[in-house]
Amino acid sequence: MDEIMVLAEHRGGELRDITFEMLTMANKLGKKNDLAVTALFLGNEASDLSERLKGACDAILLMEDSELANYSADQYIMAMETVIKTRNPTLTLIGHTAMGMDLAPAMATRLSLPLATDCLEINLAERRLDVLRQIYGGKINARLAMKPSDKYLITLRPGSFDAEAEQGKSADVQTVPAPSWTNLRGRQFLGYLEAELEDVDIAAADILVSIGRGIGKPENIPLAQEFADSIGATLSCSRPVADEEWLPKSRQVGTSGKTVRPKIYIALGISGAYQHQVGMKNADTIIAVNTDPKAPIFTIAHYGIVEDMFQVLSLLTEKFAKK
Ligand SMILES: Cc1cc2nc3c(=O)[nH]c(=O)nc-3n(C[C@H](O)[C@H](O)[C@H](O)COP(=O)(O)OP(=O)(O)OC[C@H]3O[C@@H](n4cnc5c(N)ncnc54)[C@H](O)[C@@H]3O)c2cc1C
Repeated sequence: MDEIMVLAEHRGGELRDITFEMLTMANKLGKKNDLAVTALFLGNEASDLSERLKGACDAILLMEDSELANYSADQYIMAMETVIKTRNPTLTLIGHTAMGMDLAPAMATRLSLPLATDCLEINLAERRLDVLRQIYGGKINARLAMKPSDKYLITLRPGSFDAEAEQGKSADVQTVPAPSWTNLRGRQFLGYLEAELEDVDIAAADILVSIGRGIGKPENIPLAQEFADSIGATLSCSRPVADEEWLPKSRQVGTSGKTVRPKIYIALGISGAYQHQVGMKNADTIIAVNTDPKAPIFTIAHYGIVEDMFQVLSLLTEKFAKK
């Protein structure tokens, strides 16, 4: 069928932003290529939630079953296989999230679909698809042409598109039957584990001083803390700093940490890998200090300083601590 199908992602009764980001992208492509945009919603007792997609697509396919109440790879694969085989969408979009990373490669193998993951852009013209992906930790953008096919599967990087819930559409909800689960392999959803209570809530801070691997060793952290104190900021970090347990996990910014939106975000010795950027790129003002002028953080920083962070720290601390 001439359509782009978007797998809606939801958790705990909430739609995730990536769903609307994918729908925004799908609508752009659909308009250019005369393709309808369909949202596939897998869930249980979820008709109210699925209706929130109405303004952003041409049709909503709702499959409800107790097996689909929470994400589980085996159930989702079987459900999607049924729908894709019946409808033959030209393009299927899945979020490049923990769920999508688990699901998409298995789907591609099962249905022999060409797959490109973690895409930042998609262009479709005359059924030929090319995508933009990043390589070498975000230092190089690679545009790739996919082998011609009548069907493609793509995962889209979260945060690459605006999430527009209203796109002037008014979709009908169509119910689709769940498959029979006789061939389920045996994995079962048991429950979500809530993160432990945290020392500070970095998401509530107006100013964040964030340190990355460039801090070098835990003995240097007091230097960053002193600067943060001098300007009334909270200390946060990139993942390696949390992984080394130099700061608690609750201070980590990024896809597997917190999403923050402070007034000022000062990134010290952070390269700006996309997993980090996703968590902080919406800060009002981003200031980056890095010795590498090609560090990806400079692509989103409003102010950049190519310099040793310790030099900058001592100058700034001296200036602000005096006030
Ligand atoms: C599934 C998954 C989830 C992830 N989730 C997250 C996440 O939530 N948050 C996150 O941050 N990362 C996450 N990552 C890791 C991410 O890919 C990067 O590896 C990480 O962000 C890099 O951290 P960094 O910038 O501190 O370190 P590096 O990439 O090693 O960068 C260190 C930077 O410091 C600079 N530097 C070194 N010395 C100095 C100095 N003296 N002065 C100034 N600059 C200096 C270097 O030039 C370099 O750019 C995730 C990865 C995966 C695969």
